[in-house]
Amino acid sequence: MSGYPRGLSAFSLEGKKALVTGGNRGLGYAFTQALADSGATVAFVGRGGEANEAAVGRLASAGVRAYGISADLTVDDDVDRAVDRAAEALGGLDIVVNNAGVCFHNPATDATDEQWHEVFDLNVRAVWKVSLAAGRHLREAGGGAIVNIGSISGLIVNRPQAQAPYNASKAAVHQLTKSLAAEWAPYNIRVNAVAPGYVKTEMAPVDRPELRRMWIEDAPQQRYAMPEEIAPTVVYLCSPAAAFVTGSVLVIDGGYTVY
Ligand code: NDP
Repeated sequence: MSGYPRGLSAFSLEGKKALVTGGNRGLGYAFTQALADSGATVAFVGRGGEANEAAVGRLASAGVRAYGISADLTVDDDVDRAVDRAAEALGGLDIVVNNAGVCFHNPATDATDEQWHEVFDLNVRAVWKVSLAAGRHLREAGGGAIVNIGSISGLIVNRPQAQAPYNASKAAVHQLTKSLAAEWAPYNIRVNAVAPGYVKTEMAPVDRPELRRMWIEDAPQQRYAMPEEIAPTVVYLCSPAAAFVTGSVLVIDGGYTVY
């Protein structure tokens, strides 16, 4: 049929304007770089001004121009300010990647109220607030794509470490993804999630010997991923190639959840 992009051009983000939360390191950094490499102009948010500047510098030496915005997404005013600044810097918004997240490892009986709040305020409430604030810009643009970073922890219970609040928060991210996908399809806004397995970042101590048995040897591929291996899937979900994909939770885990 004519009128549809064909081949690799279906994955192009040329002319698109993207916001990534938690983009100064780890997965969010890889997403920022991959979106830019695919043609988008990108702004990212993180709390640390110095970490943001350092990331902008590293991206620049890789040939990518990105805007770093300092904001704490657990603070409502910061959310609105960050989203508006991103839309202003980029001249609008078409893509949002809700990536910033936090995790604590400890048994449920030791988890503090503060940890519960920190996890839910960032992993769930900030996804909600950023989606609402950015959703207005996406509607103005005539549509767009939101990708939320969920986790296999929203599907299974990780071992050996206990992390009940985190697991519950990621299940909430998956269901929020489906709920917004249903509500916002009439506005031409697609909302999907990716659910990564173990990825080497500051959050996930994948090289610790005591975790190897259950984190690595339990997975069919017998390894963890690097952030760059998750990024192309985020590009895909943001691109015209995924025009009929919404409300999906795409698992990228080297087969971890097949058992
Ligand atoms: P990192 O801890 O490496 O990075 C977290 C990012 O979020 C940083 O850029 C950090 O910057 C930012 N951030 C943290 N708190 C806030 C806040 N309150 N406001 C704004 N930005 C904030 O984590 P990962 O890259 O590993 O994780 C990224 C996402 O992927 C998370 O949602 C995580 O749950 C998910 N995930 C990770 C997996 C893994 O194995 N690594 C597996 C499955 C899912 P700063 O500190 O400067 O604010």
